[in-house]
Amino acid sequence: MKIGFIGTGIMGRPMALNLIKAGHELLTWGRRFDTVEPLLVAGAMGKGTPAEVAASAEICFTVVSGTSDVEQVILGERGLVHGVKPGSVIVDMSTIAPSATRRIAAQLEVRGVDMLDAPVSGGQAGATQGTLSIMAGGKTEVFERVKPLFEIMGKNIVHVGDHGAGQVVKACNQIVVSLTLQGVAEAILLARKNGVDPTKMREALLDGYAGSKILEVHGLRMMNADYKPGFKVKLHHKDLGIVLDNASENHVPLPGTAIVAQQIEALMEAGDAELDSAAIMLALERLAG
Ligand code: NAP
Repeated sequence: MKIGFIGTGIMGRPMALNLIKAGHELLTWGRRFDTVEPLLVAGAMGKGTPAEVAASAEICFTVVSGTSDVEQVILGERGLVHGVKPGSVIVDMSTIAPSATRRIAAQLEVRGVDMLDAPVSGGQAGATQGTLSIMAGGKTEVFERVKPLFEIMGKNIVHVGDHGAGQVVKACNQIVVSLTLQGVAEAILLARKNGVDPTKMREALLDGYAGSKILEVHGLRMMNADYKPGFKVKLHHKDLGIVLDNASENHVPLPGTAIVAQQIEALMEAGDAELDSAAIMLALERLAG
């Protein structure tokens, strides 16, 4: 299949490479050559604009950063919308606001183009190994059409509802991830302050009810002070903004998430935007002196 792919960062690059490995023909565009180059080396064809990518592809994927980036790449001056053929599909796998994804889907529908919001969870490792969790929103028949491609990139693939539902589920995912990150950091701090080896604490907790992927992966990063991204603090900041804005629109109090958002805000202000979000440990260490 001829597939368009835009957004070749920490997540997008390995996802795109898996599609190439599975035998698909990839067309790509990027605003910087060095991010696109690894795909070209792997056999993808470079195009001059997103519109040119869309003109040659049956299905286009976007894995960029935030809401305004997705709007720019899809609806902007040289965006996918200016090349896309009626009957084709645009699948946005970035994490953006549910309301924005519904708006974009409505604008594409007018032109006879279908959209899915299909954000992911599972990090760089999941993207590389093709084991991402994919939460998709949109029409059932469009989901079924794209599913074989999702199966190359992910393992747990769930059609969660209509347009925007994928982004709502991703917001739910970020609530659980954020609060768990905070909990793991607090546990490590308390163990240390008591003179108890946090490595032993983590080992003891892993198989009980306190066990989680976050304790396993991010707990280790926190103990090693290894904050190479991964999932950048600035993206976590973006995601918590999406969660809290949506909660406010829907009159839902989220006190736990709001506290973690303040920790992430502190990291942003301290100049730690490019670190992995396990650096929430740093914010807590600073609070504890
Ligand atoms: P990243 O490493 O910063 O990569 C983002 C990519 O999108 C880069 O190639 C960037 O191009 C491109 N891009 C961003 N804005 C653009 C624009 N306006 N026009 C053209 N290209 C643009 O980010 P990532 O970690 O791969 O994350 C991508 C998405 O997946 C985000 O929505 C994030 O929240 C979500 N996500 C990330 C993780 C994770 O663990 N990292 C996990 C789940 C979901 P440049 O190189 O030119 O900047």
